[in-house]
Amino acid sequence: MASQDIAVSVDQVVKHYGNFTALHGVSLDIRESEFFTLLGPSGCGKTTLLRAIAGFESVSEGHILLKGEDLTGLPPHQRPVNTVFQQYALFPHMTVLENVMFGLLRKGWSKVEAVRRGQDVLDLVQLAEFAKRKPTQLSGGQQQRVALARALAPRPEVLLLDEPLSALDLKLRQSVRSELKALQRETGIAFIFVTHDQEEALTMSDRIAVMSNGRVQQIGSPKEIYEAPVNRFVADFVGETNLLDVEIASIDGGTASVVLPGGTPFTCPAATVLDPGRGHLSARPERIRITAPGDAHLDAVVTGHTYLGTDIQLQVRLSDGEVMSVRLQNSETTSVPEVGQTIGLQLEEGAARLLAD
Ligand code: ATP
Repeated sequence: MASQDIAVSVDQVVKHYGNFTALHGVSLDIRESEFFTLLGPSGCGKTTLLRAIAGFESVSEGHILLKGEDLTGLPPHQRPVNTVFQQYALFPHMTVLENVMFGLLRKGWSKVEAVRRGQDVLDLVQLAEFAKRKPTQLSGGQQQRVALARALAPRPEVLLLDEPLSALDLKLRQSVRSELKALQRETGIAFIFVTHDQEEALTMSDRIAVMSNGRVQQIGSPKEIYEAPVNRFVADFVGETNLLDVEIASIDGGTASVVLPGGTPFTCPAATVLDPGRGHLSARPERIRITAPGDAHLDAVVTGHTYLGTDIQLQVRLSDGEVMSVRLQNSETTSVPEVGQTIGLQLEEGAARLLAD
């Protein structure tokens, strides 16, 4: 990719806090105009990386470049990036418009220019009519949009968002998600979004970097991350999966022949080059069909059901004791097997993958 297509380049970044290493040589490129998400469990280093890009945190080794220019040593206010935090920290005594203008005035904009720009960005987030209100007179979602408007006002090249939806309730979060995505498209600014919520990451991102223990595990589109996870961590953290302990008979390029619990041979894609021996087969619960026992990939006994509205989740147990979960779409024609019944499970060809640990 031509370097001018890259908004931010993170190059071999290491971050030590005393004896503890929070980032172990992280490298990734964020493209211009893309919605890029750092996804991972608590403590994996995503906030540290975001803060390093913003300049709130120094890096121990490595470089962060913005459009090819090294930002090392540049203080936060001189970086052409802006951050929206989890707690929006709006000034309660100022109006919405004054909150949005505050940073512009500090940067030396004239009052006339700051008012004009403030009104434009409030328009963009559909809050123009609330310009004269105080933040306490707004709903949580509206306050969140003020924080966004304030961060977008100085026309940053990149917007950094640190779990900005976590203070909102579930229903509101879902509607703000699509607003945020639309805003990113409209402005064409690269957004770097931090979250531990895999659904948020899958629904909004152009690309996702999945992190754990200070390392990037995989970078890809939501579809690549969900359907072709490279290892057990990614398969397990993003969505739900069954990880079956299988014997690897042979591997030829990206295809593996394995023996399933119960002895049935099965051919599947392999995420990486693995040696024959034992491995884990990832099978998503919605990519498994129920058939008659005896002639299927696996035989299992139903141990329970969970009603999820759109789906029904079955808990099943294989003869070797492994527990699996299977999702059935809930419709009038769905026949749900009884608890205690023996059923056959057919794994969808190509959807189940052999994974590295
Ligand atoms: P969360 O979702 O909980 O915010 P995170 O993935 O953003 O987690 P970070 O905040 O980046 O994680 O922290 C990464 C690791 O670095 C954690 O183990 C944390 O305890 C440690 N850490 C962060 N800041 C400091 C600090 N100032 N001093 C020492 N350790 C720190």
